[in-house]
Order: sequence, then structure tokens, then C-alpha cells
Amino acid sequence: MYNVWENALAEIEQKVSPANFSTWFQDTSLLSNNNGYIVIGVKNSFYVKQLRTRFLDIITEALTKNNINVKTIDFEVQSSSKSKIRPREITADSLIKDIKPIKKHAESSNGLNSKYTIENFVVGSNNDLAFSAAKSIIDTPGTRYNPFFLYGGPGLGKTHLVQAIGNELLRRNPNYKILYTPISHFYSDFIDAIQNGRGREFNRKFEKLDCLIIDDFQFIVGKEKSQEEFFNIFNDLYQLNKQIIITSDRLPSQIKTVDERLATRLTWAGAFDLQLPKFEDKCAILKTKAELMGAEIEPEAIEYIAENINTNIRDLEGELSTILLMSEVRGLTPLELIHNGAASINKTSKLRPVSSKQIVEKVAKYYQLSPKELCSKSRVSNIKTARQVAMFLLSKELSMSTTKIATEVGVKDHTTVMHGIKKIETDLKLNFILRDQIEEIKEKIYG
Ligand code: ADP
Ligand code: MG
Repeated sequence: MYNVWENALAEIEQKVSPANFSTWFQDTSLLSNNNGYIVIGVKNSFYVKQLRTRFLDIITEALTKNNINVKTIDFEVQSSSKSKIRPREITADSLIKDIKPIKKHAESSNGLNSKYTIENFVVGSNNDLAFSAAKSIIDTPGTRYNPFFLYGGPGLGKTHLVQAIGNELLRRNPNYKILYTPISHFYSDFIDAIQNGRGREFNRKFEKLDCLIIDDFQFIVGKEKSQEEFFNIFNDLYQLNKQIIITSDRLPSQIKTVDERLATRLTWAGAFDLQLPKFEDKCAILKTKAELMGAEIEPEAIEYIAENINTNIRDLEGELSTILLMSEVRGLTPLELIHNGAASINKTSKLRPVSSKQIVEKVAKYYQLSPKELCSKSRVSNIKTARQVAMFLLSKELSMSTTKIATEVGVKDHTTVMHGIKKIETDLKLNFILRDQIEEIKEKIYG
């Protein structure tokens, strides 16, 4: 029986990344097989969830290849199964001693915060194009990428990258006049100036700039007066070949009520985007962050965090800090924490109390369908989209297995579900309207 599992593991090893294999399969064993009713032993309950939600199909396939007619797979926690991954010998004391006090970073009147640098911006497949454009701007501002329009979802590094450009330009040329401002500050400063009869002054503040950085430009929507003002400032600077940098969570064309002249200007120089980091990108970011904090963390623990945080870089950082802090408090290394299942506490607490039925209902309602219609076989485009959004949310919000989701939304098999989830994930990268819609549905679900 154990031989079968060894063989299955060899199959699995071909299918998953080395990191995944060592994290999730190292400590597994085949406990029993009663005519295809399989029980697999794992180290703690956290592994059960991971294996069930992410690797069930791969495990099934591997067993089938070894001539087992799989009916069900269950997991059982075996406290005795020994870990082959040895945590490095670090003590809580040494960790505390090693954690450098976090430096206070001053924000100066130009709005730049020195904590954002080019050096500590980790370049990966998710941001390399934007980064090389940023490098080019640093070398020759106001030329090729002007305006520079950077877009991407929250927490993916927009503020970091544009602040880093500003800081680096200033480091190379201390006389360079830069202003970084979120558009919301631009707006309130503008209103203030007008009300106090200092409109002229407000204008003059921008006239002399060499580089203007505007963050979170999407919030310009609906602010007619400041759109006009911004357009004027933009034009003046642009004509003088001054560098203009703008970030937004969406493309210029998707910022609806933007002044049309302004919209045209913004599309002149193509937009660059920041994407969700892939596994390798996430590991690199976590490694750098841990080094910056002066904390030690095992590579396996980094992989664990990278595997489990799929939202954005801000959350990745948050999880790293939590685990480092918990490890300090409990006197365990990060990896020991994870192996003890302690680190998963944080994760499960994020799962919010909502049932699959509620999710299906809310999604259906949003698309003006009945849950029955959503779960029908209909291939009408909006019904299909609604069904896929429901699949996506059931997976992301409840970590439900694809097999279970299939039953929930009335589709034939789990591959359809996998396809549906993938489709939404891909669409979300570029379709900002869909992104907004899903956020809206989530608000309805939890609101
Ligand atoms: P956004 O402005 O897109 O919402 P931020 O720039 O605020 O995102 O980034 C969120 C957090 O993630 C910040 O602490 C930032 O330093 C960090 N971060 C984002 N991208 C990177 C990266 N490529 N390398 C290092 N840190 C990053
Ligand atoms: Mg930001």
C-alpha cells in the first residue's frame, strides 16, 4: 500500500512545483484504501484544507494512474508523521534582537516619502515593463514616456513605483522640482485656494515644477472644476517638456467623466500596468521585505505565504509582518508556526460568515436572474457570466472545492468550474468594469 503512495507521489512531483511538493506532500502518507475509499494522513488540519481545495484533482489522477479506482479521498491528521523539513535554528531572542527598529520616514513638502526607493522595489514578471519605463524616465525625464500613465489594482505598487521615480530623480539632481500629490489632495487644495482667493498662488505652485506626480487619478471623476484646472496645469507643463506621472486603478478610457481633451492627452503615451505577482515574484518580494526588516524566515515559510496570499502585495506584506510578529511572540520560527497550524488562524479568520447559497443568491440578483436561472444549463451570455462569477466567488470567498462548486451551480463537472474561475481571473486583469462589479457584489454579500 505504501508503495502505491510512493508511486503516486512520484506522479504528483511531476505535476506541481518543487516548492508546492515539499510544502504540501512531504509529510503525507496513505493510511488506507478500502475499495477506492482513500484516506491520506497529513500533519495538521491546515494541510487538509490546502490539499483538498488545491490538489484533489492531481492526487486523484496520480492514484488512478496507479490503478486505484478512486471513489473518495479523505484526509486525516496524523500528529506522528514526522517533518522532513528542518526549520533553521533560530530562537525568539535572536529574532527580536535581529529585528531592526523600523525607521521613521519623513514625508517632505514635495510629498515624497523616502521609504519608497528604486532599490527596494522588487522587479518581477508582474512589473518589469513598467519598471523599465520608470528607469527610462529617471535617465531622461520629460522625453519618451510623457505623460507616464501607470495603472493597476490596489496594493500592486503604483504609489511605491512613482514615489521611487521622484526620489531617484531628486537624488540625482537635488535642484529638480518635484511634487507628488494624490488627486484628492490636489482637489482639496484647489478648493481651499479658490475659497481663500489664492487661486493664482495655487497655479504658481505647479508652474515651476520639473515633474508632477499625481496618484490615484481615478478619484477625479465627478470633480468638474478640478478636471479643468488640472487640464490647464497639465498642458502648461507638457508644453515645457516637464515630466508628468499619473497613476490610476484603471485605464484613462475607463475613467468615465474625465474631460475629453484630458482623456485624449492621457492616451498619447501608452499606459503601463502593474499585474498580480506570480508565485516566484511573491517569493522574491517577501524575501526582500524580510531582509529589510532584518528578520530571518525559512524559504519554506516564504513559499507558504506566497502560496496563500493571492490578492496583492500589500496583503503579502501584511501576512509576513503578522507571521514574524507571531513567531516572535510565541517563540517559534515562522516555519514552526506554520507547521503547528498556528499561522492559519489568521487566514481562517479572514473567511467571512456567509453561505454558498447566499453567494449564489446575491450574484443572481445582481444579474437580475433567479438562482434557478443562474444554475440552469443556459448559455445565454449574461447568465453564463453570472454563473462564472458565482463560481469565482465560491472559490475565493469560501475556498470551496471545484467539485463542490459544480454541484452548487448545477454544472456537469469540476473542469467546467475550473475553466469558469480561470476565465474570470483572466478577465479581471483587464476588465475594470468587471472588477468594479465583483466588488459591488461582494459589498452586497457582506454588507
Ligand atoms: P498601490 O499604490 O498600487 O495601491 P502601493 O505602492 O501602496 O500600492 O504598494 C503596497 C505595498 O506593497 C507597499 O508597502 C509597497 O512598498 C509594496 N510593494 C508593492 N510592489 C512592490 C515591489 N515590486 N517591491 C517591493 N514592494 C512592493
Ligand atoms: Mg497607492
